[in-house]
Amino acid sequence: MPNPLPIAAGCAFMAWAVRGRASSVFAPSVWRGPAGERALALTFDDGPSESTPAILEVLARHEVPATFFMCGANVERLPAVARAVAGAGHEIGNHSYGHPYLFLKTPAGIRADLGRAQRAILAHTGATPRWLRAPFGVRWFGLRRAQAELGLTGLMWTAIGYDWKLSADEVVTRMAARAANGAILCLHDGRELRVKPDAGPTVEAVRRLVPLLLDQGYRFETVTRLLCPKNSPSAC
Ligand SMILES: [Zn+2]
Repeated sequence: MPNPLPIAAGCAFMAWAVRGRASSVFAPSVWRGPAGERALALTFDDGPSESTPAILEVLARHEVPATFFMCGANVERLPAVARAVAGAGHEIGNHSYGHPYLFLKTPAGIRADLGRAQRAILAHTGATPRWLRAPFGVRWFGLRRAQAELGLTGLMWTAIGYDWKLSADEVVTRMAARAANGAILCLHDGRELRVKPDAGPTVEAVRRLVPLLLDQGYRFETVTRLLCPKNSPSAC
């Protein structure tokens, strides 16, 4: 009978390699910015959706930028909303085309899905994403090459809101407790590829969270400006 310990350790390593926020085993990935400045990045995944305009309104009211990791399929479903995000000056990232689990895909399939998203985003917004947030935070074989070919760097998060299942109150409490210099905060303006998803708790959480963090002295930056303040090529 094989010794179960190395097997358990191997499984734990794979689980971390695939989903750990600080793992770069399958592809280069960043999960926080520099701690020296009181700045953070607010990021949204799974959009655009019918709820995105309400979030844009809150951001505009407070004049803060954010980064939206869009799914190509959602961009094609709601191109005007995607354009509105870009037009308001927010950064746009790649969150895949169809929100698949990458571990179910071949390297060629991963490359094809991410490339399709990159083309859909460019066609409808004029923006070429430089950051990739892998669906479900799952990285897999083939991602390193796909990222390199598409000019993408992986971006995880410092704190995730679980806003697809928590109440607005719980999301605000959770994110406020985890806000820190250089933090990358992850919320969701959509719910995978769902049509008219209920993102009400997210919208309400953003309404409360943005002024709260501004009062605490935080400056909001896009991911690129948070990670590359002088446009230095290192992480960029
Ligand atoms: Zn997602």
